[in-house]
Amino acid sequence: VLSDAQRRTIYALSTPPGKAGVAVVRISGPDALEVRLQMVRTPSKAARRKRNPEPWRLERCSIVDPDSNEVLDDGLVVFFKGPKSFTTEDVVELHLHSGRAIISSVLTVLSRLPFCRPAELGEFTRRAFEGGRLDLTQVEGLKDLIDAETEVQRKSALRAAGGATRAVFDGLRGEILMCLSLCEAAIDFGEEDSVEDSVLVKAWQLGEKLRERMVSILTDDRRGEILRSGVRLTIFGPPNAGKSSLLNFLAQREAAIVTHIPGTTRDILELSLDIGGLPVIVADTAGLRKTTDVVESIGVDRAKKAIESSDVSLLVLSLPDTVKPGSEELNVPPSIQPLITPETFVLFNKVDLLPEATVQRLREHAKKQLQIPNIWTTSLASKIGTGEFLSGFSQALQERYNLLEAQNTSEPPLITHARHRKHLETALLHLEAFLALPMDELVFAAEELRYAAQAVGKISGVIDSEDVLDVIFREFCIGK
Ligand code: GDP
Ligand code: ZN
Repeated sequence: VLSDAQRRTIYALSTPPGKAGVAVVRISGPDALEVRLQMVRTPSKAARRKRNPEPWRLERCSIVDPDSNEVLDDGLVVFFKGPKSFTTEDVVELHLHSGRAIISSVLTVLSRLPFCRPAELGEFTRRAFEGGRLDLTQVEGLKDLIDAETEVQRKSALRAAGGATRAVFDGLRGEILMCLSLCEAAIDFGEEDSVEDSVLVKAWQLGEKLRERMVSILTDDRRGEILRSGVRLTIFGPPNAGKSSLLNFLAQREAAIVTHIPGTTRDILELSLDIGGLPVIVADTAGLRKTTDVVESIGVDRAKKAIESSDVSLLVLSLPDTVKPGSEELNVPPSIQPLITPETFVLFNKVDLLPEATVQRLREHAKKQLQIPNIWTTSLASKIGTGEFLSGFSQALQERYNLLEAQNTSEPPLITHARHRKHLETALLHLEAFLALPMDELVFAAEELRYAAQAVGKISGVIDSEDVLDVIFREFCIGK
């Protein structure tokens, strides 16, 4: 019997367990056909067909226990011949009736076969990646597609899974390598000055164009990441303004999911809100409903950091406590003032304590005084104005993140993961270093381009120094 590491053929149930119409068991690896030979009986009599089934054709079959020849289920079998399969290996799929006993008997027989083993988490996709069938952006896209809960998320994930994201980054990397090959050509033909100059001018022009492309990709307000994983919201304000009341109000809505994420050191409670189709996330490491008082519990400096690291901040103030007695001037606490920007959303709470006419007057006055367009007034205690707040907040978010546009245009933002941004920013730094170098510093310039290409290569997960040679080779064959 082979060791686990030697058993290259893996199997797993690829559909959720339990009662359903169909269950699919997937088998991938060099011995997939051997599994088929042992466990599958098709009507075809020809021995040749049994060893060499026609690929990509669904066939009726019985699935049997090879030791006893007992029929476990009647179903369908399909053979995907590598490398034209999802994993790039030979793949056999058994389509069974989905019932606990059927699935368990088939998996038990598979576990007894000496040449295959159960697949690890994500191992089929991993093989697709290792086989070059998928790059990392497609792997991420596939996962996002399965996780997609909103229409925007599905569209954006499908685009990545289909390779559109990969194509853009591969294209960028190709152009950086082109630029590099021009530099290397100039290094090789250093003596012929005239040739060198024109080649170098081309390289720097291409670099300039590339820089513009990268900057435009990066200037996206994080829309792709936000549409995929949600807007991060920080609620802040002075003590007793109503922050906890607001959070409770939001959490009790049907569209709110309180998720429990087993964190690294401490569990994180996360409130995930669907506000007008946009996922909004309020995270709290210390227990969601108890401590949400960012300012009072962690101090102004850290509140500032929390606000900076979130996408949206919402200031809660008590209207009666904020207005100066006998005037319309607002008295925002000095510790809060530096945290306010024109982007801040503001909720004046406790309006039940003031006459309605006064509230209206104060609201108009506040918009002018604070120079903030998004201001609402509520009483969270008596639910006055909460409906208007929710619909107004939702619309403001949709406008801010161009959600409606993203749903309609064919080109949603390219960057959907922080990882992409990180590598692309690194690449941009190196490209800028390249552009800043004088043309006679060719060796250093080439080095910067190599780093830039490497950083972009990390987005796809394929970094290969052979590539540089390939590009250079191609360039010279065509060029000469
Ligand atoms: P936080 O300190 O900002 O989290 O404020 P809380 O949500 O804990 O509320 C502080 C106090 O104000 C509590 O006693 C609430 O019941 C009360 N409160 C909250 N919202 C309202 C409101 O709209 N009107 C009135 N009158 N009281 C409120
Ligand atoms: Zn509180």
